[in-house]
Amino acid sequence: MEHPKLTCMQCGSELTHITTYRKGEGNNMDDWDTYDVGSCPKCSRSFHRNRRTDESMALPCEPQCPRCGTPAHFHSVDRTLTEPAGDPTGMIYACTLHPEHRWTRDGTGDRWTPLV
Ligand SMILES: [Zn+2]
Ligand SMILES: [Zn+2]
Repeated sequence: MEHPKLTCMQCGSELTHITTYRKGEGNNMDDWDTYDVGSCPKCSRSFHRNRRTDESMALPCEPQCPRCGTPAHFHSVDRTLTEPAGDPTGMIYACTLHPEHRWTRDGTGDRWTPLV
C-alpha cells in the first residue's frame, strides 16, 4: 500500500512503516481519518501520523518486560486482535529477549494489555 514518508519526532530519522489504519466516528468510513504508523530504527519509538491533519503523535511509552526491564518493541500485527482488544492497529509489542511477554494497546487510550 502507498504511504507517505514518515519522520521521527525525536531525532528526525526516517521511520520504518509498520501499518496503516483508519479510525473515526460513525458508520461512514469515508469520514474516518487515515493514520500511518512508523517505528524509528534509531530510538525505537513508534509514531502515528494523521494523513488529513498531518499531525504526528508518539505512541505511549512501551511497557517494560517483567523479567529484564527492557521496554517492549514492536513485534507484529495481528488483525484478529482488533475485535476483543479494540485496538485498530492490532499491533503487538514484545520483549526482544523474552517474546513470550507480549502486550497490545487499548484502542481507547494509553493503556497496555498483556497477552497471555
Ligand atoms: Zn528517532
Ligand atoms: Zn525481557
